[in-house]
Amino acid sequence: MSLENIQEESAAERHPAALEERVHWAGGASKPQSNVVAFKFGGSSLLGADRMLHAAGLVLAARRASSVTVVVSAMKGLTDHLLSIARALADGRLAPARREAELVLDTHLDVLHDLQLSAPDDLRVRRELQLLGRDLLHEVPARGSVAAGAELFDRLASFGERFSARLFAAALEKSGVSAVPVTSSDFVLTCDTFRDAQPHLEQTKQRGREVLLPLLEAGIVPVVTGFIGATPDGRITTLGRNSSDFSGAIIAHVVDADELVIWTDVDGIFTANPHESAEARLLHELSYDEARALAASGAKVLHAKVLPLAAETRMVVWVRNTFNPQARGTRIGLPRVRQHPATAPMQKSQHGGAA
Ligand code: ASP
Ligand code: MG
Repeated sequence: MSLENIQEESAAERHPAALEERVHWAGGASKPQSNVVAFKFGGSSLLGADRMLHAAGLVLAARRASSVTVVVSAMKGLTDHLLSIARALADGRLAPARREAELVLDTHLDVLHDLQLSAPDDLRVRRELQLLGRDLLHEVPARGSVAAGAELFDRLASFGERFSARLFAAALEKSGVSAVPVTSSDFVLTCDTFRDAQPHLEQTKQRGREVLLPLLEAGIVPVVTGFIGATPDGRITTLGRNSSDFSGAIIAHVVDADELVIWTDVDGIFTANPHESAEARLLHELSYDEARALAASGAKVLHAKVLPLAAETRMVVWVRNTFNPQARGTRIGLPRVRQHPATAPMQKSQHGGAA
C-alpha cells in the first residue's frame, strides 16, 4: 500500500453525506429522510455537559440531511472506574466499593446539573439517573458477600453506557432534537462469554429493527448504548474493552446505515501516532484492505471487528474529530475510481469549495 497515493486522494474528497447540506430543501414535515447515518461518540466526546451539548450540535446539523442513529460510549474514565469497583467487590472491600459506586452516580448527576435543563426535564432525567443508580447500588452492597465473577464485571461495566445514553439523549432534547435512550441489551443478542461476548448478528438485526425503525420513522434519534448486549436469557454481557466502535458498526448494520461516523478526538487515521511523531500524516482515504493492513501493522485504527463488518456490508466508515468538525476526517470504504492527476487537472479546484 502506498501511503503517498492515499494522501493524494484527498483531491477527490467528498464530505460525509450527513454533512452535505441539502440547500434546496425548504424544511417542513416532508423532509427527505432516505439515508440513515450512524454516529458513534467516544468517551472523550461525552465528558461533561459542554462536550455533550457540542456533540449534540453535530447531530442537529446532520439531521438536516439524514436520519441519525447515535451510539455512545461511557464518559471517559467511567468504565475503568466501574471495573475497579468490581475488583474491590471481588476482593471483599465492600465499603470502599459502595462509596465509589455512589460517586459514579454523583458524577452523572453533576453532568445533569450542568446541562441546565428546564425544571420538568431535569426532574424526569434525574429520576431516570436515580433509578439507574439504585440498580447500580443494588449490585454493590455495603455488607455481606458478593459473587464477583465475570458476569458481575459486565453488569457493573454496563452502567457507564447506560448513564451516558440517558444524559446524551437529554443533551439532544435540550438542543432541539427529539431523542430517546435505548439500552442495547434489549436487542443485541450475544453468546455468554462474559467480558468478550460475540454478537449474533442476524438475530440482533431482526430484533434491533423492531426497536429502532419505529423511532427513526417518527423522527426520533435513538441514543443506543455501545459496548453491551445480553445473552438469550437476558443476562448483560459486554463485547470487550473499547468495543463501542464495534457496537457502532453493529447498530449501523441494524438500521442499514450508509455511513458510520466514529467521532473521536483526533482528525482521523494517521500514518503514525500524531502525538509521538512529527512525521505522522493524516490519511484521507483508505480502502477496507488498506485500513486492515494498517491495523495489522500495529497502528491504532479502530476496534478490530469494525472493518470486517463494514467491508462485508459495504458500509462507509468515517473517523472524524468531534473537537474539529471542520476537518473532513478519514474515509474508509470501497476504493473509488482513481484518476491520474494529469488526466484530471481541474479536479482539485472543482471540488475545493464543495464543503
Ligand atoms: N466504555 C467501554 C470501554 O471503555 C467501551 C468503549 O468505550 O469503547 O471499554
Ligand atoms: Mg473508544
